[in-house]
Amino acid sequence: MKITGIDILPFKWETFPWKTGMGKWFGGSKNIGLLTIHTDEGITGHSFVGNFAAGVEQYAKLIKNDLLPLILHRDPELIEVLWRDMWTHNRYIPSQCISSIDVALWDIKGKKYSLPIHRMLGTSRSEVPVYSSTAWHETPHEYYAEAETFLQKGWTAHKIHPHGIAETDIEICKSVQKATGDRMKLMLDVTWAYNYQDALMVGKAIEDMDFYWYEDPLPETDIYGYTKLKNSLTIPVVATEAVPGKFLGMSQWIARNTTDMIRGDVGSLGGITPLLKTAHLADAFNMSCEIFHGGNSIDAVANLHVMMSIKNCQFYEMFPPNGENQFGLIDDIQVDENGLVHAPETAGLGINIDWELLNSMKVDI
Ligand SMILES: [Mg+2]
Repeated sequence: MKITGIDILPFKWETFPWKTGMGKWFGGSKNIGLLTIHTDEGITGHSFVGNFAAGVEQYAKLIKNDLLPLILHRDPELIEVLWRDMWTHNRYIPSQCISSIDVALWDIKGKKYSLPIHRMLGTSRSEVPVYSSTAWHETPHEYYAEAETFLQKGWTAHKIHPHGIAETDIEICKSVQKATGDRMKLMLDVTWAYNYQDALMVGKAIEDMDFYWYEDPLPETDIYGYTKLKNSLTIPVVATEAVPGKFLGMSQWIARNTTDMIRGDVGSLGGITPLLKTAHLADAFNMSCEIFHGGNSIDAVANLHVMMSIKNCQFYEMFPPNGENQFGLIDDIQVDENGLVHAPETAGLGINIDWELLNSMKVDI
């Protein structure tokens, strides 16, 4: 089989805007692209280009001008070779571009052998618990109300994105803990907002509240601060969501004992291929690799396949929890009455693209 071309169908994605404590707005009105890799056997692979943070415009030219020549007329099944050839360009091509191609290559391979991707990766399980991952809210009471809503739905874990102001954040955490008691595992994701003093103060406060993990309290460059912080707290500290070097940067964080768990997803790391490497690296150190939300519906499905192929990821992150980041698929990922999501079981990604919707929202870029 040979790759014969790529096309990208750009479409408008209108969704409710949301933000986290760092003030970055997500969602709203974005242009996303449906990427299709064509082959000489007629098998096609798909992914989305762009996500709830950045549109297809900034990625499409890099994919067509810089990455396509690297893979054209080559065998799409040689994913490791193709990924490494693309990754050598990572210093000027965002990992999201490389991921779009890598995910579509796995889709092709799964379709060729009539297997869901997680089965090719080595299936470990068929379901995983979800956590509601809250967007920014104005008041502690709004955080309280949202946590209560998802507790009532049967979800078993909940993560807070607070304001990034230490005293306010402690009040928000107290409010959520009041809503959930000991009936949900609670996590705090500060999205890199604190200095060391604030990180220590909030860490000790949520340790006393029995929170389950403490995510990205310090900037992703502050290995020195993370080392001090981790030595001063008993709550698991979770960094590496935005680590420099991506998969290849993770080893420094593990070797220096600066994080208790690893984080990654397909878009941020450059595809299914490096996410699987990252998860296996963490497994060798008996660490979790907590896979985070995909920035679009197909990335989320790709993440789910990797989750189903490993044991060391505890949760599926639904961010925002009402599903505002789902778009473009018929039968998108659903959470069941026990707060679980399930493995896709049809070939490749196992997705059903809503062609009618995407064509109706088509735009020029
Ligand atoms: Mg995070």
